[in-house]
Amino acid sequence: MFDNLTEKFDSVFKKLRGQGRLTEDNIQEALREVRLVLLEADVNFKVVKDFVAAVRERAVGQDVLKSLTPAQQVIKIVREELGRLMGEGTDNSLDLAARPPVPIMLCGLQGAGKTTTCGKLALSLRKQKRNPLLVPADIYRPAAIDQLKTVGRQLGIEVYDTQPGQDPVAICEAARRYAELNGFDTLILDTAGRLHIDEALMGELGRIKASLAPREILLVADAMTGQDAVNVAESFDAQLQLTGVVLTKLDGDARGGAALSIRAVTGKPIKLVGLGEKMDALEVFHPDRMAQRILG
Ligand code: GDP
Repeated sequence: MFDNLTEKFDSVFKKLRGQGRLTEDNIQEALREVRLVLLEADVNFKVVKDFVAAVRERAVGQDVLKSLTPAQQVIKIVREELGRLMGEGTDNSLDLAARPPVPIMLCGLQGAGKTTTCGKLALSLRKQKRNPLLVPADIYRPAAIDQLKTVGRQLGIEVYDTQPGQDPVAICEAARRYAELNGFDTLILDTAGRLHIDEALMGELGRIKASLAPREILLVADAMTGQDAVNVAESFDAQLQLTGVVLTKLDGDARGGAALSIRAVTGKPIKLVGLGEKMDALEVFHPDRMAQRILG
Protein backbone atom coordinates (compact mmCIF):
# COMPACT_ATOMS: atom_id res chain seq x y z
CA MET A 1 0.00 0.00 0.00
CA PHE A 2 1.21 3.48 -0.93
CA ASP A 3 4.66 2.11 -1.80
CA ASN A 4 5.50 4.86 -4.28
CA LEU A 5 4.40 7.58 -1.94
CA THR A 6 6.34 6.18 1.01
CA GLU A 7 9.48 5.80 -1.05
CA LYS A 8 9.35 9.36 -2.32
CA PHE A 9 8.66 10.89 1.08
CA ASP A 10 11.54 8.85 2.40
CA SER A 11 14.00 10.32 -0.06
CA VAL A 12 12.83 13.89 0.64
CA PHE A 13 13.24 13.41 4.38
CA LYS A 14 16.57 11.60 4.08
CA LYS A 15 17.96 14.63 2.36
CA LEU A 16 16.52 16.92 5.02
CA ARG A 17 17.95 14.85 7.86
CA GLY A 18 21.34 14.71 6.17
CA GLN A 19 21.67 18.48 6.32
CA GLY A 20 22.20 18.78 10.06
CA ARG A 21 21.58 22.44 10.79
CA LEU A 22 18.71 23.68 8.67
CA THR A 23 18.13 27.05 7.13
CA GLU A 24 14.79 28.40 6.11
CA ASP A 25 15.78 27.72 2.50
CA ASN A 26 16.32 24.03 3.28
CA ILE A 27 12.81 23.80 4.62
CA GLN A 28 11.33 25.69 1.68
CA GLU A 29 13.15 23.33 -0.67
CA ALA A 30 11.82 20.27 1.19
CA LEU A 31 8.31 21.68 0.99
CA ARG A 32 8.66 22.15 -2.75
CA GLU A 33 9.60 18.50 -2.96
CA VAL A 34 6.70 17.43 -0.74
CA ARG A 35 4.41 19.31 -3.11
CA LEU A 36 5.76 17.38 -6.09
CA VAL A 37 5.48 14.07 -4.26
CA LEU A 38 1.81 14.74 -3.54
CA LEU A 39 1.04 15.89 -7.07
CA GLU A 40 2.71 12.78 -8.47
CA ALA A 41 0.58 10.73 -6.10
CA ASP A 42 -2.47 12.16 -7.88
CA VAL A 43 -3.63 14.20 -4.91
CA ASN A 44 -6.09 16.93 -5.83
CA PHE A 45 -4.29 20.14 -6.83
CA LYS A 46 -6.06 22.42 -4.39
CA VAL A 47 -5.65 19.92 -1.56
CA VAL A 48 -1.90 19.90 -2.21
CA LYS A 49 -1.76 23.68 -2.21
CA ASP A 50 -3.60 23.99 1.09
CA PHE A 51 -1.61 21.17 2.62
CA VAL A 52 1.77 22.68 1.77
CA ALA A 53 0.61 26.08 3.01
CA ALA A 54 -0.46 24.57 6.33
CA VAL A 55 2.85 22.77 6.77
CA ARG A 56 4.79 25.86 5.75
CA GLU A 57 3.00 28.01 8.27
CA ARG A 58 4.02 25.67 11.07
CA ALA A 59 7.48 24.66 9.83
CA VAL A 60 8.99 27.94 8.74
CA GLY A 61 9.86 29.90 11.80
CA GLN A 62 12.35 30.18 14.56
CA ASP A 63 10.82 27.48 16.76
CA VAL A 64 11.58 24.72 14.30
CA LEU A 65 14.91 26.12 13.18
CA LYS A 66 16.14 26.60 16.73
CA SER A 67 15.07 23.18 17.92
CA LEU A 68 17.69 20.48 18.43
CA THR A 69 16.18 18.28 15.74
CA PRO A 70 14.73 20.60 13.10
CA ALA A 71 14.39 17.89 10.44
CA GLN A 72 12.45 15.69 12.86
CA GLN A 73 10.20 18.61 13.67
CA VAL A 74 9.40 19.18 10.02
CA ILE A 75 8.66 15.49 9.49
CA LYS A 76 6.43 15.47 12.54
CA ILE A 77 4.50 18.44 11.21
CA VAL A 78 4.05 16.72 7.83
CA ARG A 79 2.80 13.59 9.59
CA GLU A 80 0.34 15.51 11.73
CA GLU A 81 -0.96 17.48 8.77
CA LEU A 82 -1.36 14.28 6.72
CA GLY A 83 -3.43 12.86 9.55
CA ARG A 84 -5.51 16.00 9.68
CA LEU A 85 -6.01 15.91 5.92
CA MET A 86 -7.49 12.42 6.23
CA GLY A 87 -9.78 13.39 9.08
CA GLU A 88 -7.77 12.96 12.28
CA GLY A 89 -9.64 14.28 15.26
CA THR A 90 -13.11 13.53 13.99
CA ASP A 91 -15.16 10.47 14.79
CA ASN A 92 -14.97 8.12 11.82
CA SER A 93 -16.87 5.21 13.32
CA LEU A 94 -20.17 3.94 11.95
CA ASP A 95 -23.20 5.39 13.66
CA LEU A 96 -25.64 2.58 14.33
CA ALA A 97 -27.35 4.11 17.32
CA ALA A 98 -30.94 3.91 16.18
CA ARG A 99 -33.94 1.70 16.65
CA PRO A 100 -33.28 -1.63 14.92
CA PRO A 101 -33.28 -2.70 12.22
CA VAL A 102 -30.74 0.00 11.39
CA PRO A 103 -30.35 0.45 7.63
CA ILE A 104 -26.90 0.96 6.13
CA MET A 105 -26.95 1.83 2.46
CA LEU A 106 -23.94 1.09 0.28
CA CYS A 107 -23.72 2.71 -3.10
CA GLY A 108 -21.09 3.12 -5.78
CA LEU A 109 -20.12 2.41 -9.33
CA GLN A 110 -19.97 -1.10 -10.69
CA GLY A 111 -16.70 -2.83 -9.91
CA ALA A 112 -15.79 -0.57 -6.99
CA GLY A 113 -16.25 -3.48 -4.58
CA LYS A 114 -19.75 -2.81 -3.26
CA THR A 115 -20.99 -6.38 -3.02
CA THR A 116 -17.71 -7.58 -1.54
CA THR A 117 -17.82 -4.75 1.00
CA CYS A 118 -21.41 -5.65 1.96
CA GLY A 119 -20.18 -9.13 2.86
CA LYS A 120 -17.15 -7.81 4.72
CA LEU A 121 -19.27 -5.36 6.65
CA ALA A 122 -21.81 -8.04 7.58
CA LEU A 123 -19.01 -10.24 8.89
CA SER A 124 -17.48 -7.40 10.86
CA LEU A 125 -20.85 -6.49 12.41
CA ARG A 126 -21.51 -10.09 13.35
CA LYS A 127 -18.16 -10.13 15.13
CA GLN A 128 -19.48 -7.14 17.08
CA LYS A 129 -22.47 -9.27 18.08
CA ARG A 130 -24.92 -7.66 15.72
CA ASN A 131 -27.28 -9.64 13.56
CA PRO A 132 -27.20 -8.24 10.02
CA LEU A 133 -29.43 -9.07 7.06
CA LEU A 134 -27.90 -8.62 3.61
CA VAL A 135 -30.30 -7.08 1.10
CA PRO A 136 -29.57 -7.29 -2.63
CA ALA A 137 -31.22 -4.29 -4.25
CA ASP A 138 -29.48 -4.35 -7.63
CA ILE A 139 -32.29 -5.70 -9.76
CA TYR A 140 -30.66 -4.91 -13.08
CA ARG A 141 -27.94 -7.48 -12.80
CA PRO A 142 -29.21 -10.87 -11.64
CA ALA A 143 -25.54 -11.80 -11.29
CA ALA A 144 -25.20 -9.18 -8.57
CA ILE A 145 -28.04 -10.76 -6.57
CA ASP A 146 -26.46 -14.19 -7.00
CA GLN A 147 -23.07 -12.81 -6.00
CA LEU A 148 -24.43 -11.48 -2.70
CA LYS A 149 -26.28 -14.75 -2.08
CA THR A 150 -23.00 -16.61 -2.60
CA VAL A 151 -21.18 -14.27 -0.21
CA GLY A 152 -23.92 -14.71 2.38
CA ARG A 153 -23.78 -18.51 2.09
CA GLN A 154 -20.04 -18.42 2.49
CA LEU A 155 -20.31 -16.36 5.68
CA GLY A 156 -23.42 -18.03 7.06
CA ILE A 157 -25.22 -14.69 6.98
CA GLU A 158 -28.77 -14.53 5.69
CA VAL A 159 -29.47 -12.76 2.42
CA TYR A 160 -32.95 -11.42 1.79
CA ASP A 161 -34.60 -13.36 -1.01
CA THR A 162 -34.77 -10.66 -3.68
CA GLN A 163 -36.25 -11.73 -6.99
CA PRO A 164 -35.07 -10.03 -10.19
CA GLY A 165 -37.65 -7.61 -11.55
CA GLN A 166 -38.97 -6.32 -8.22
CA ASP A 167 -38.90 -2.60 -7.48
CA PRO A 168 -35.76 -1.73 -5.45
CA VAL A 169 -37.62 0.50 -2.98
CA ALA A 170 -40.25 -2.22 -2.45
CA ILE A 171 -37.46 -4.77 -1.89
CA CYS A 172 -35.82 -2.62 0.78
CA GLU A 173 -39.14 -1.96 2.53
CA ALA A 174 -40.08 -5.64 2.48
CA ALA A 175 -36.61 -6.54 3.76
CA ARG A 176 -37.06 -4.12 6.64
CA ARG A 177 -40.38 -5.77 7.61
CA TYR A 178 -38.73 -9.17 7.29
CA ALA A 179 -35.89 -8.02 9.55
CA GLU A 180 -38.34 -6.68 12.14
CA LEU A 181 -40.21 -9.96 12.22
CA ASN A 182 -37.11 -12.12 12.33
CA GLY A 183 -34.87 -10.32 14.79
CA PHE A 184 -32.27 -8.79 12.47
CA ASP A 185 -30.90 -5.56 13.92
CA THR A 186 -29.04 -4.22 10.87
CA LEU A 187 -29.92 -4.02 7.17
CA ILE A 188 -27.08 -3.86 4.69
CA LEU A 189 -28.48 -2.57 1.43
CA ASP A 190 -26.45 -3.49 -1.66
CA THR A 191 -27.76 -0.97 -4.18
CA ALA A 192 -27.40 -0.95 -7.96
CA GLY A 193 -24.14 0.05 -9.53
CA ARG A 194 -23.54 1.35 -13.03
CA LEU A 195 -20.44 1.94 -15.06
CA HIS A 196 -21.05 5.68 -14.97
CA ILE A 197 -23.13 8.00 -12.87
CA ASP A 198 -26.57 8.43 -14.38
CA GLU A 199 -29.67 10.27 -13.35
CA ALA A 200 -31.98 7.27 -13.25
CA LEU A 201 -29.66 5.54 -10.79
CA MET A 202 -29.40 8.62 -8.61
CA GLY A 203 -33.19 8.94 -8.64
CA GLU A 204 -33.56 5.35 -7.51
CA LEU A 205 -30.98 5.73 -4.74
CA GLY A 206 -32.73 8.91 -3.65
CA ARG A 207 -36.03 7.04 -3.36
CA ILE A 208 -34.44 4.27 -1.30
CA LYS A 209 -32.93 6.93 0.94
CA ALA A 210 -36.29 8.71 1.34
CA SER A 211 -38.11 5.53 2.20
CA LEU A 212 -35.61 3.80 4.48
CA ALA A 213 -33.82 6.81 6.03
CA PRO A 214 -30.53 4.91 6.28
CA ARG A 215 -28.43 5.73 9.30
CA GLU A 216 -25.33 5.46 7.15
CA ILE A 217 -25.08 6.16 3.43
CA LEU A 218 -21.66 4.97 2.40
CA LEU A 219 -20.03 5.39 -0.96
CA VAL A 220 -17.85 2.46 -1.92
CA ALA A 221 -15.03 3.87 -4.03
CA ASP A 222 -12.03 2.22 -5.67
CA ALA A 223 -8.82 3.81 -4.35
CA MET A 224 -6.91 2.73 -7.43
CA THR A 225 -8.93 5.12 -9.59
CA GLY A 226 -7.39 8.16 -7.88
CA GLN A 227 -9.05 11.45 -8.72
CA ASP A 228 -11.90 9.64 -10.51
CA ALA A 229 -12.89 8.24 -7.14
CA VAL A 230 -12.86 11.75 -5.72
CA ASN A 231 -15.11 13.01 -8.54
CA VAL A 232 -17.48 10.10 -8.05
CA ALA A 233 -17.63 10.87 -4.34
CA GLU A 234 -18.47 14.50 -5.04
CA SER A 235 -21.32 13.51 -7.38
CA PHE A 236 -22.81 10.93 -5.04
CA ASP A 237 -22.52 13.30 -2.12
CA ALA A 238 -24.29 16.07 -4.02
CA GLN A 239 -27.23 13.75 -4.71
CA LEU A 240 -27.39 11.69 -1.54
CA GLN A 241 -25.54 13.53 1.22
CA LEU A 242 -23.20 10.68 2.08
CA THR A 243 -22.32 9.95 5.68
CA GLY A 244 -18.97 8.49 4.71
CA VAL A 245 -16.78 6.62 2.27
CA VAL A 246 -15.45 3.07 2.13
CA LEU A 247 -12.22 3.15 0.18
CA THR A 248 -11.53 -0.25 -1.38
CA LYS A 249 -8.47 -1.85 -2.96
CA LEU A 250 -6.08 0.13 -0.83
CA ASP A 251 -3.89 -2.97 -0.86
CA GLY A 252 -3.18 -2.37 -4.54
CA ASP A 253 -2.93 1.42 -4.41
CA ALA A 254 0.69 2.53 -4.71
CA ARG A 255 -0.06 6.23 -5.05
CA GLY A 256 -2.63 7.23 -2.44
CA GLY A 257 -4.27 10.13 -4.33
CA ALA A 258 -7.85 9.20 -3.46
CA ALA A 259 -7.09 8.41 0.19
CA LEU A 260 -5.42 11.78 0.63
CA SER A 261 -7.96 13.88 -1.26
CA ILE A 262 -11.42 12.48 -0.70
CA ARG A 263 -11.98 13.81 2.79
CA ALA A 264 -10.64 17.29 2.04
CA VAL A 265 -12.61 17.62 -1.20
CA THR A 266 -15.96 16.22 -0.06
CA GLY A 267 -15.81 16.90 3.66
CA LYS A 268 -16.96 13.33 4.21
CA PRO A 269 -14.86 10.94 6.29
CA ILE A 270 -13.33 7.70 5.09
CA LYS A 271 -14.91 5.31 7.57
CA LEU A 272 -13.66 1.95 6.38
CA VAL A 273 -10.98 0.66 4.05
CA GLY A 274 -10.80 -2.52 1.97
CA LEU A 275 -7.40 -4.18 2.04
CA GLY A 276 -7.93 -7.31 -0.02
CA GLU A 277 -10.42 -9.63 -1.64
CA LYS A 278 -10.92 -11.82 1.41
CA MET A 279 -13.94 -11.28 3.63
CA ASP A 280 -11.91 -10.26 6.66
CA ALA A 281 -9.95 -7.60 4.73
CA LEU A 282 -11.93 -4.62 5.99
CA GLU A 283 -10.59 -2.18 8.55
CA VAL A 284 -11.76 0.88 10.40
CA PHE A 285 -9.91 3.87 9.00
CA HIS A 286 -7.47 5.57 11.37
CA PRO A 287 -6.08 8.77 9.81
CA ASP A 288 -3.14 9.05 12.20
CA ARG A 289 -2.05 5.46 11.72
CA MET A 290 -2.39 5.85 7.97
CA ALA A 291 -0.21 8.97 8.05
CA GLN A 292 2.36 7.05 10.07
CA ARG A 293 2.27 4.21 7.56
CA ILE A 294 2.68 6.56 4.62
CA LEU A 295 5.77 8.12 6.12
CA GLY A 296 7.22 4.68 6.84
P1 GDP B 1 -19.27 -4.22 -7.22
O1 GDP B 1 -19.54 -4.31 -8.69
O2 GDP B 1 -19.04 -2.82 -6.78
O3 GDP B 1 -20.27 -4.94 -6.37
O4 GDP B 1 -17.84 -4.91 -7.00
P2 GDP B 1 -17.46 -6.36 -6.43
O5 GDP B 1 -17.78 -6.46 -4.99
O6 GDP B 1 -18.01 -7.40 -7.34
O7 GDP B 1 -15.86 -6.28 -6.55
C1 GDP B 1 -15.19 -6.11 -7.79
C2 GDP B 1 -13.82 -6.77 -7.68
O8 GDP B 1 -13.01 -6.07 -6.75
C3 GDP B 1 -13.87 -8.20 -7.16
O9 GDP B 1 -12.94 -8.98 -7.88
C4 GDP B 1 -13.46 -8.08 -5.70
O10 GDP B 1 -12.84 -9.25 -5.20
C5 GDP B 1 -12.46 -6.94 -5.79
N1 GDP B 1 -12.31 -6.21 -4.51
C6 GDP B 1 -13.25 -5.64 -3.73
N2 GDP B 1 -12.70 -5.03 -2.66
C7 GDP B 1 -11.36 -5.22 -2.74
C8 GDP B 1 -10.23 -4.81 -1.94
O11 GDP B 1 -10.34 -4.13 -0.90
N3 GDP B 1 -9.01 -5.19 -2.38
C9 GDP B 1 -8.82 -5.93 -3.53
N4 GDP B 1 -7.60 -6.25 -3.89
N5 GDP B 1 -9.86 -6.31 -4.30
C10 GDP B 1 -11.10 -5.98 -3.92
